[in-house]
Amino acid sequence: MKKIAVIGSGYVGLVTGTCFAETGNDVVCVDIDKSKVEKMKRGEVPIYEPHLDVIFERNIKQNRLRFSTDLAESIKEVEIIFLALPTPPGEDGSADLSYVLGVAEQLGKLMSSYKVIVDKSTVPVGTSELVTAAVAKHSKVPFDVVSNPEFLREGFAVDDFMKPDRVVIGTSSEKARAVMKELYKPFVRQGNPIIFMDEKSAELTKYAANSFLATKITFMNEIANFCERVGANVDEVRIGMGSDTRIGKRFLFPGIGYGGSCFPKDVQALVKSGKQHDYNFQIIDAVLRVNDKQKTRLIDKMLNHFGDLSGKTFALWGLAFKPDTDDIREAPALYMIDALLAAGAKIRAYDPEAMENVRAIYGSKITLTPEQYDVLDGADALIIATEWSAFRNPDFDRIKKSLKSPKIFDGRNLFELDEMAGKGFYYESIGRATITA
Ligand code: NAD
Repeated sequence: MKKIAVIGSGYVGLVTGTCFAETGNDVVCVDIDKSKVEKMKRGEVPIYEPHLDVIFERNIKQNRLRFSTDLAESIKEVEIIFLALPTPPGEDGSADLSYVLGVAEQLGKLMSSYKVIVDKSTVPVGTSELVTAAVAKHSKVPFDVVSNPEFLREGFAVDDFMKPDRVVIGTSSEKARAVMKELYKPFVRQGNPIIFMDEKSAELTKYAANSFLATKITFMNEIANFCERVGANVDEVRIGMGSDTRIGKRFLFPGIGYGGSCFPKDVQALVKSGKQHDYNFQIIDAVLRVNDKQKTRLIDKMLNHFGDLSGKTFALWGLAFKPDTDDIREAPALYMIDALLAAGAKIRAYDPEAMENVRAIYGSKITLTPEQYDVLDGADALIIATEWSAFRNPDFDRIKKSLKSPKIFDGRNLFELDEMAGKGFYYESIGRATITA
C-alpha cells in the first residue's frame, strides 16, 4: 500500500487516483476547484467517463479515496505526488507550464519528507528539469521527479488505465524507479511492459505517440478528400490499406478532423517545441494545416449544396469531440456551430452527454433539446458530428418525416452507401459518393 496524492482531479487525475485506490493504495485527489471537490465529497463523479462511477463509489466506501482542496494537508503523509494538471496551449501554441511549475514551487515550500513527484501531465521535453528546479528552489528535503506520461483515452479511461498497453516511466533515480515499479505492478500482470527510460525520452514519447496518431487520421482525411475528386470510395480504400498488418486497421477512419483536449494541443506544442530547439517539424506542421481545413469540410459541402445558409435551420447530432465522453474541447462540432452561426444559420443540437458543457459556452445562441429526434422538426438538414452508438441505427422514417427536406450531412460516415441508396435521402459523407435520393 502506498500513500498517494494526485494534484488535479480532471479526466486524468481522477481516473489515476481512483484506479490507484482500486489497487489498494490510499489516495487523496486534490483540486483547486472548490465546487468540483464538494461534488466529489458528496459522492458524485464530476465528469462523464464510463465505468468510473462504480470504482469511485467503491473506493470512497472503503476509505481509500478522499478529496481535498488543501494541498499542504494532502501531501503531508504521502510518498508519491502525481501532477495531473492542465497544460493548455499558451498564446503562441506552446504548452503552458504555469500550472505544473506553480504547483511544483508550492510543493517545494510544503514538503517535509522525501517525495517522488510524478508528472502525468503532457509536457514538453525538458520539463522534468524545470520541475526539479522549481521544487528545489524552496525544498529542504530530498525528492525525485519522474516523467510518467498518460496514454488513456477518454471514453475508455478506466480500462486503459487498469490494463495499459504499456507504462512509460522516465527517471534517472533508482529509488524512484523501485517505487514506480511496485506501484504499477498490479497493472502489468498480463505481461504488458513497464518501459523505463530517461525523463526526456519519456516526455517525448507522449508527443510522438499523439502526433503520430493525429498524422494517421489526417493522412486518411486527405485520401478521403482525394477519393471525392476521383470517384473512389474511402471505405474500400481504408479496408484495403488497413488489412496490411504494417499499417493496421485502427485510426484510419476519415471524418471532420481530430479534436479533443490532447491531439490539437499536443501536435501544436511539438511543433513549437521543435522551433525552440531550432528544428522544423515539416510533417506535423502540415498535419495542423490539413486538420484545420478538415474541421469545416462538411460546411463547405453544405455551402456547395445550399448556396446560402442564412435563415436555414440545421439539426446537429453530436457535440462531444468523440463518443462516450462529455468533453467538448476542440470538438469539430463547435467549429461547425461557429461557422453556421457566422453564416446566419440556426442550430438545434443534441448530444447524449455533452449538452451542459455546450450550454455553458453558447447559452441561448443555439437550441439544445434533451431528445435525439426533437432537433429534427422542420430542419433543412441533419448534420452528424460525433459517432455516438445511438446515432448508428436511427429511425430513418422518422428522420425523413421530421426534416423539412430529407438531407443528411454525415461527418462520420455512419451509414453504408448501399444502405442509404433508395431510402429517399440526399446523403453526403466524407470521401464517398453523394447519394441523391
Ligand atoms: P482537466 O482540465 O480535465 O483537469 C485538470 C484539473 O486540474 C482540473 O480539475 C483543474 O481544476 C485542476 N487544477 C488546475 N490548477 C490546479 C492547482 N493549482 N491545484 C490543483 N488542481 C488544479 O485536464 P486533463 O484532461 O485531466 O489533463 C491533464 C493533463 O493530462 C494534461 O497535460 C493533458 O494533456 C494530459 N492528458 C490528458 C488526457 C485526456 O484524455 N484528457 C490523456 C492523456 C494525457
